[in-house]
Parts: sequence; C-alpha cells; structure tokens
Amino acid sequence: VTARGRGTATTGASVPSAGGMVLSLERMTRILEINTADRYARVEPGVLNGDLQLALAPLGFFWAPDPTSAPYSSIGGNLACNAGGPRTVKYGAARDNVLGLNVVDGAGRYWPTGQFTSKGSVGFDLTRLLVGSEGLLGVIVEATLKLLPKPTASRLMRASFQQVEAAAEAVARVMAQANTPSALEFMDAKALGLLRRYHALDLPQGDALLLLEVDGAANTIDSQAAAIQAACQVSGLLHFEQATDARQGEQLWAARKALSPTLRLHAPKKINEDVVVPVSQLPALIRGVYAISAEFGIEVVNFGHAGNGNVHVNFLYDPANADQHAAAPLAVRALFKLVLSLNGTLSGEHGIGLDKLPFMAEAIPAETLSRMRDLKRVFDPAGILNPGKVLPMP
Ligand SMILES: Cc1cc2nc3c(=O)[nH]c(=O)nc-3n(C[C@H](O)[C@H](O)[C@H](O)COP(=O)(O)OP(=O)(O)OC[C@H]3O[C@@H](n4cnc5c(N)ncnc54)[C@H](O)[C@@H]3O)c2cc1C
Repeated sequence: VTARGRGTATTGASVPSAGGMVLSLERMTRILEINTADRYARVEPGVLNGDLQLALAPLGFFWAPDPTSAPYSSIGGNLACNAGGPRTVKYGAARDNVLGLNVVDGAGRYWPTGQFTSKGSVGFDLTRLLVGSEGLLGVIVEATLKLLPKPTASRLMRASFQQVEAAAEAVARVMAQANTPSALEFMDAKALGLLRRYHALDLPQGDALLLLEVDGAANTIDSQAAAIQAACQVSGLLHFEQATDARQGEQLWAARKALSPTLRLHAPKKINEDVVVPVSQLPALIRGVYAISAEFGIEVVNFGHAGNGNVHVNFLYDPANADQHAAAPLAVRALFKLVLSLNGTLSGEHGIGLDKLPFMAEAIPAETLSRMRDLKRVFDPAGILNPGKVLPMP
C-alpha cells in the first residue's frame, strides 16, 4: 500500500515500485478546525499546504513549513517527507510544527498520537517518529498542526561576495548573532549566471549571493536588519542592499524562485539533490562539488537554504549524450561521499524514497538501520506499507 498525496516527491517515494495498491489521499481535503486561541489546526491529509495558508492568513496565523511546492503538495505528503523551505531556518520544518496525528498502521489499526496542547510530556513521541517516515510506518489520516502568528512586517536584503568562502563566513556570523533571519538563501555564481542569461535580472557581480530576510513586529525590523548587515561585513563582501519597498523584495524573491524552472530551460535533465552540511563546511562543499563537476564532465548549479547548510546541488546534463548519461550517477555518488565526509547528511527536506536507497547503508550505521527495521515491524508487521523504500535490505 503506497500512500499518495499529490505525487510531487522528487525521490520516487510515492511510486508503487513493488506493485500493490496506491492509496490516494487527494480527496481528503477538509480543514476540520482552526483554533487560534489554542494555536492549532486539524486537517485531513489531502489539504494543500497553500490552501491551509490561505485559510489561516486572514486570521493572522500561518503553518511554518513552506516548500516551493506549497500550492500543489499535500499536508500529508509534507508531514511524511518532513518538508521545509526558506523559513525553516527560523521556524523549523514539518516535524517541528505538528502536535499530533491520527494514523492507520500496516495492521489496519487506527490510533492517535500527540496532544492538542503546545506542551506535552506523556509517553513516547510517536508523532515525531511518524513525521518523515515516508509512508512506511502508517498512513496519516488527520493531523493537528501547530500554528504561529504571522509576522506583521519583514524586510529582504541581498549581499554579494567575491568568493563562496566569504559568503559562508557571513552565513556563520549571521547565525551566530541573536536575530535569526526568517530566510537565508544562497546562490552560487552559476545560478546567478543563469538568472542573468534567461531572465535579464539585474544582479550584482560576485561568486555568491545571499538573500536574507528578517520578520517580526514593524518596530523591530530596522534593528534586526542593521544587525544582519553588520554580520555580513566580512572581507570579500562586494555589495549589500536592503529592499526598501515591497516590490523590490518581491523581485528578489522572484529571482530565487525562478531558479528551479530556469534549470529546465538550460538542460534536458537535472538531478536535484538536497544535501546538508554544517554551515562551517559550506565552502568545502561548494569547492568539492565544482571538483566533481570537472571530474565527471557534468555541469552543476548550487543554491539553497544556507542558514541550515542545506544546498540544492543540481547536476545538469543531456541523457542523449552517452558519456554524460553514464557519468551522472557517478557524480551523485561522489557528492554523497563528499557530504558524509563533511559530517553532513543526504537530504534536508526531500527524503530518501527510491533514489537515495542505495546510499542509506553508507549514511546510517548498521545498528541504527536495524533499529529502524525493528520499528517498521512493530508498526507494519506484514511489511505492506510503501515496500522497497527508505530502508535497504539487510
Ligand atoms: C517543483 C517542486 C518543488 C519542491 N520544493 C520543495 C521544497 O521547497 N521543500 C521540500 O521539502 N520539498 C519540496 N518538493 C518535494 C515535495 O513537494 C515534497 O516532498 C512534498 O511534501 C510532497 O507532498 P505530496 O503531497 O506531493 O506527497 P507525495 O509525493 O504524494 O508523497 C510523498 C511521500 O509521502 C507519503 N505520503 C503521502 N501522503 C501520506 C499520508 N497521508 N500518510 C503517510 N504517508 C504519506 C508517500 O507515500 C510518499 O512516501 C518539491 C517538489 C517539486 C516537484
């Protein structure tokens, strides 16, 4: 039984690769309750993230997970993959923003987890175990989500740097001060080159650009922005600019959001990995990725959520070119080896699915994988839920 929300997972997680039945949650779209006093919303799993945000906005609240796919991905899918986005750096991903779940496990048993309160210390935390389990432990049929008050003001800034190292140093300095940005996004020189070429965008020169956002009460924005600007004053900073009006801010976000579709204009095929390294290792990651690109003859473009050290490494190639077709999987393997050597992890938000299954045994110690298989047997004794995903055969 393969649960399916909207099928937007990029890892093959919702593909019934072992056959069986696809269980579509697409029509379970009811928002059952919005309770602003207790700061939660109860929803069915097929509710689109974007639709929930639209329902919450007039009440002055939001649900923090903000994947780019929000308008067309389901909350069940967001929870099953522990989805996140630019705001994760300040507000956390799906796992940090759920209070409880109702699930049907692999034995057909229906049970609730968690609580309706923002605090709870009763028993094991099965809620957080189920989030990110990619449909292997249970089917989420209802979720109680934690709501946050919507900030009334925000400001976007951009900073360009001569080298990736300088940008990474600024990221580390921004994260080491008290004003946590609500977004801290990175684009490398190749990403900037593509935006200039395909969108004629006015972007500053440099090997790296950071987009930084602060949010909160209007009277805190100037001081927060000043603190971020001060943290960005590193050797190698070329240009720092604050968006002075909403339109300018929208243009900057538009540049960031245009990147993913632009890659499709540039090459017939992209492999988008979403690796994570400690922030201090960002320069080593980017330099290493360029070396992999040179070694295997595969073009690469990097951008992503620098505040979490989460970089979307995009390998771009032409599958009709036999050499590139053969080299691309080797480049991905080399990338994962590099990431693990830097104390990083394979995925920040997309999950494992089918694509990264061959690398799990390298990423997770054998004993830890055994405990995951033990848990799988408890929740799904017959092994019918999304078989062949996430957990490699022993
Ligand atoms: C253009 C694009 C941009 C994206 N941007 C982001 C991004 O910024 N951040 C991010 O995190 N992801 C992103 N994604 C990936 C994807 O959108 C997310 O993983 C999303 O959470 C998947 O939701 P879905 O409804 O499509 O789930 P599906 O793809 O249908 O399912 C995903 C997994 O969840 C399981 N599942 C689905 N519903 C349930 C349920 N009710 N109970 C139990 N298991 C369930 C499935 O079995 C599968 O394993 C992007 C994808 C695309 C195509």
